[in-house]
This record gives sequence, C-alpha cells and structure tokens, in this order.
Amino acid sequence: MTTDQSHDELHVQAKRRVVSLIPGSVVNLLEYDLESLTAFCELLGEKRFRAIQLFRWIHQRGCANFEDMSDLAKSLRQKLKGVAEIKPMEVVSQHISYDGTIKWLFDVGGGNVIESVFIPEDDRGTLCLSTQAGCAMGCRFCSTGHQGFSRNLTTGEIIGQLWFAEHFLRKHLQRDERVISNAVMMGMGEPLQNYAVLVPALRMMLDDHAYGLSRRRVTVSTSGLVKKMDLLGLECPVALAVSLHAPNNALRDYLVPLNIKHPLEELMPACVSYLAHAPRDFITFEYCMLDAVNDTDALAHELVQLVKHYGHSVSWCKFNLIPFNPFPASGLHRSKPERILAFAQILSASGITTTIRKTRGDDIDAACGQLAGDVVDRTRVAVRIARQRSAEPAATALATATGAKI
Ligand code: SAH
Ligand code: SF4
Repeated sequence: MTTDQSHDELHVQAKRRVVSLIPGSVVNLLEYDLESLTAFCELLGEKRFRAIQLFRWIHQRGCANFEDMSDLAKSLRQKLKGVAEIKPMEVVSQHISYDGTIKWLFDVGGGNVIESVFIPEDDRGTLCLSTQAGCAMGCRFCSTGHQGFSRNLTTGEIIGQLWFAEHFLRKHLQRDERVISNAVMMGMGEPLQNYAVLVPALRMMLDDHAYGLSRRRVTVSTSGLVKKMDLLGLECPVALAVSLHAPNNALRDYLVPLNIKHPLEELMPACVSYLAHAPRDFITFEYCMLDAVNDTDALAHELVQLVKHYGHSVSWCKFNLIPFNPFPASGLHRSKPERILAFAQILSASGITTTIRKTRGDDIDAACGQLAGDVVDRTRVAVRIARQRSAEPAATALATATGAKI
C-alpha cells in the first residue's frame, strides 16, 4: 500500500464490523477482534499471518509497544506508528480483599469509572467484567442499577479489563502461563444490552491466538433480554446465566423491571431454547436471596414447579443462590443463613442441582451487585428507582398476595 492510499478514507466490512483508516485518526487495536485486525492489516497491505502475529503480541504477551514486538517486520511496525496504538484504560485504583479478591477501577472518560474483580480460587482464576458504565435495568436489589446508566462500553474497554488483569497478574505473580481461566460478564451492566460490542470481545476471549478460554468458562449473565439470548446462542454460544430472582411475574416485575417487558412466559422458553447451543447441558439461574422478600418455602416450591413446567426434567438448569450483598441505599436485607439453607434444600430435594455462592471481596465492595464505580446517569434510572421505592406499600401488597413479604 502506498502512503497516498493510507491517507484515503478506506472502509472494509469485516464480518459485521467496519474497520477504517481515517486520515489523522489513530485506532486503538484493543478494539479489534482477529477478523477486524486482519481487515485493518489488509488496509495496510499486510497479510493475515501478520495480523495473527500482531494479535498474539497484544493479547497473549500483553505488549503495548510496537517497538517491542521483535519478530514483527520492521516495515509493519513502521506503518503502524501514527495510525494505530494499544491504549489501555487508566487504572484509578486497586483494592485487595483479605480473601485475595482484587478489585480494579478503570477510568473510561466522561466522569465514568467502571470496575472489574479478580477472584482467585484453588482450581481457577475468575475475572468478573463490566459491560456498561452503569445499567439501565434498575433491578431493585442492585447497586449498579441504583446508579443509573451512562453508556455502553466499547469492545476495547471490555477486553481491556481482561488484557490488563491477565498481564498485571502474570507479572505480579511472576507466572508465564495463564492466570485467568474463567471470565464472567457479571460486573456493571446488562451485557446483552450491549450485544454488538460484546460479541467481538467474547470472540477474543475464546480465540486461541488471544486468551484461548473455553466456551464453558466464559459466562454471560443476563436479566432476561430474550431476543438477544436467542442470537447469542446462534452467534457465540458461551455459558449462560439468567438472573431469575423470583418464580412468578408479580414478584419478578417488582425485583427485575425488565420482566414487565419480557415475562416468564417468554424468558423460560428462551432459556430452554438456549440449551440447543449451550456449551454445557444446563443453564444457570441466579437467585439473589432477600430476607422476607423472595426466600420463603412457598416460593421455593413455586420455583420447582416453574422449572418442571418448562423442562422435561429438572436437570436442564442449576440454581446458584446468591446471598444478597447489601449497599446503603437498598433498604433490603440478606436472608438468614438457615433460611438460605432451607430454600436450597427444597430445590435440591426436587433434584435441582443447587449451590450457594460464597461471598467474596465484600470488605472491598467487590461482591455481586456491589460494583458501582462512578457513573454519570443519563437516563434518570436513579430517579425512577427512587419513585418506585416511594410506592413500596403497593409492592408490599403485591408480594403478600404472591406469597412473599416485602
Ligand atoms: N446484568 C447482568 C449481569 C450483572 S449482575 C445480570 O443481571 O445478570 C450479576 C449478578 O449479580 C446477577 O445475577 C445479579 O442479579 C446479581 N446481583 C445484583 N445485585 C446484587 C446484590 N446486591 N447482591 C447479590 N447479588 C446481586
Ligand atoms: Fe443491571 Fe444486572 Fe444490576 Fe439488574 S442486576 S440492574 S441487570 S447489573
């Protein structure tokens, strides 16, 4: 490619993404999955194998400086200068819990700060990633939801969390091999509301030239965007977790407002359909245990009926009970340990595999639902939630009618 060409505005459709060379602009290569990077290298007159080399330097070796990419042709390094860069997000702070959990806050500009959490365990290292700055879903029990929504993250901002954490940890722990074995989209935001941007990031997580994670070890958690669940199954089937939290529409409408749009009659069949593509033969339901709200025996039995109603047996799903992690504005309380056990026993007795999630990193506000970064709310979600809370007597009546107490 000539210099003149490089100053033309060129566009290439790489699968679903547009890759371009715009005069004067510098692209952040963290934004590109391998298809897009290949298209970008083609614009520079380079072959696919060069893109693979570059991709491996960036993601497998964590290199952010073209000069250090020693086996990359000098001519390519030269071409990349001025049109491309590898620009990680700025780390605002790092907190380390007594249990080894690490939380990082990243500045994504415009007054927004997002969070990622690394959870070390004996047999795995899990990174919990954010997909949006804030969240527009407004779930009743979620700190991110209470903050409101600012914007979707970009692909580079999503993968940039893994890029930073993996290479930081390798350096810190002096390890050559992979530290992070699992990635869960359970940080700030509703991943499927940022679907088009999320999928290239997921592909990078799975790509053997990048992080090479198994599909079983990459989990998307959703509050129930059913159409996008269908698409994910077709386009990038990774493990799926669905935030259920209630066995009937009345209570779920209150806890997860998205349920009003996509009630259980839509959500449950979408879960069952996903099984045809899922990397495991089950999907996981998450159920946040809220004292005297959704934790009664009656509701546990109703949950069993719900699962039986939509599947041939109960083995198509697993339940993960999450003890509620309180935050100041919630006004809610965690179910007592003995209540959580009793609830779990009812599910288990019916044959449903049920686990109780161990709370990690709560001393640094890194536990599920406590991630709140700093977000400029552009959607008035926070105002809506405040209004919803002031209407709580109505919610109490509603929950009482459905067997729960709020
Ligand atoms: N938006 C997605 C993923 C992020 S939330 C979703 O809702 O699935 C990740 C998980 O944490 C979800 O299951 C969510 O319901 C749960 N969660 C949210 N707030 C919580 C809290 N305060 N305590 C415990 N779990 C919470
Ligand atoms: Fe958003 Fe998930 Fe929190 Fe609901 S639980 S507000 S969907 S982040």
